[in-house]
Amino acid sequence: MIKNKVSIIGSGPGGYVAAIRLAQLGNDVTVFEKNDIGGCCLNVGCIPSKALLEVADHVYFLNNNHNFGVKVNDYTFDFKQAQNWKNREVVNTLTSGIAMLFKKNQVKFVQGEAKFINTKQIEVDGKSYNFDDAIIATGSRPIELKTIPFSENVIDSTGALNLEAVPKELVVVGGGYIGCELASAYARLGSKVTIVEAADRILINFDQDMVDLVVQEFKKQNVTIMTNASLDKVEDKGSCTSYVKINGKVEELKSDKVLVAVGRKPNTDNLNLNKIGVEVLSNGMVKINDYHQTTIKNIYAIGDIVEGLALAHKASFEAKTVADTISGKKTKVEYLAIPAVCFVSPECASVGVNLATMDKKIHAASNFPLQANGRSISLNNTDGFVRLISEKESKVVVGAQIVGNYASELITQCALAIECELTLDDISLTIHPHPTVSESIMDVSELGLGLPIHL
Ligand code: FAD
Repeated sequence: MIKNKVSIIGSGPGGYVAAIRLAQLGNDVTVFEKNDIGGCCLNVGCIPSKALLEVADHVYFLNNNHNFGVKVNDYTFDFKQAQNWKNREVVNTLTSGIAMLFKKNQVKFVQGEAKFINTKQIEVDGKSYNFDDAIIATGSRPIELKTIPFSENVIDSTGALNLEAVPKELVVVGGGYIGCELASAYARLGSKVTIVEAADRILINFDQDMVDLVVQEFKKQNVTIMTNASLDKVEDKGSCTSYVKINGKVEELKSDKVLVAVGRKPNTDNLNLNKIGVEVLSNGMVKINDYHQTTIKNIYAIGDIVEGLALAHKASFEAKTVADTISGKKTKVEYLAIPAVCFVSPECASVGVNLATMDKKIHAASNFPLQANGRSISLNNTDGFVRLISEKESKVVVGAQIVGNYASELITQCALAIECELTLDDISLTIHPHPTVSESIMDVSELGLGLPIHL
């Protein structure tokens, strides 16, 4: 293995994973970070949003009738305490864990904003650092719309994660997974939420039949969804008035807060990339080859700043593959199956080929409803289904979609099946523990073979 001096800009799930793996492979690694260690994911993204959703689950359970015979006549909910728990016990535990792992693996950490001086040197606060190879892992930031600039009450996802009180009314601009997750959290914490989406439906990356179930649940949570709608102006005068164009008319919505979640843009503007010859595409993404080398061969780019899904696990996968290449084991970054999850209620998860991308001539899809799954019935939650998409001839699994309880956990079994090119027979003959929701994956494979036991 080659022992290189490697500089990494950014300590998110791209940067920190690359750093640890490179150090494990014997390289001399330095990470530069201008904000908190752990990047967007740990500080203002994946982790805190899921913590907030967990709080919402508990509050929603207390507020709603169910068949368990549990009645709570009086309870208090302290949102500030929930926020403290999220920040101190969840986020801090994980970020200090990364700092510890850096120490353990002898990864050097430099706090400050980094930029390139040339193709062999980085500068932070006037000090220069030499490298043989560098990885740019600077992530992305929320897009600010010119027509709706951020203000005290017009906020981005970071602001929405750190509110001091649950808003009475919340308008969410953008029905992507970030907007929908935060809408789901606040709706179940008690906000009256309206989602404004320009497309004809929310969650456009997921199949329509999955989204139908999410929309149905949003309705139960009293969430209004406005599609084919555009929000062109917000007045923030202590509270907000939003002007939404829909069906040729303009509707006024009053709310305490407006969350703008219309996408993210790559952090590639202040790194001197053009100056040193690293080509940046017109959308701000860094141009890379199959090994994630930029147009300068000893400088690599990973995570949200390169094309593809902006997801933490994609960034980490690229990090490990690039670490191999830098360490002498040249490896293409090849994704067979990147799972995508939206942690709304019910959870949606998809991997590989879906209904929208399947080729009906060569692929077959089978859906198994959770109404026929014993564990789902005992969980009092049968909304959802499991779908496997396989090749008609070989029966090799090429895609899966899951909506319902634990979809985020169950999708990994399907990702593994795709990675290992398992067939429907392989899955149907794998003994699944009973009673579990995961049995529905065995059931759907039997269904695909025309031999369903439970349907
Ligand atoms: P980041 O995590 O953004 O890290 C980049 C780091 O680089 C940052 O810390 C930044 O400060 C630093 N940096 C930037 N420029 C410089 C510079 N010049 N010098 C020094 N440091 C610099 N993804 C999922 O997979 N699952 C989820 O459930 C999920 N939920 C999300 C929820 C929300 C609300 C948001 C906003 C995002 C969510 N994501 C989720 C997306 C995920 O957070 C990103 O895809 C992931 O963090 C990208 O990793 P990264 O390493 O590319 O960049």
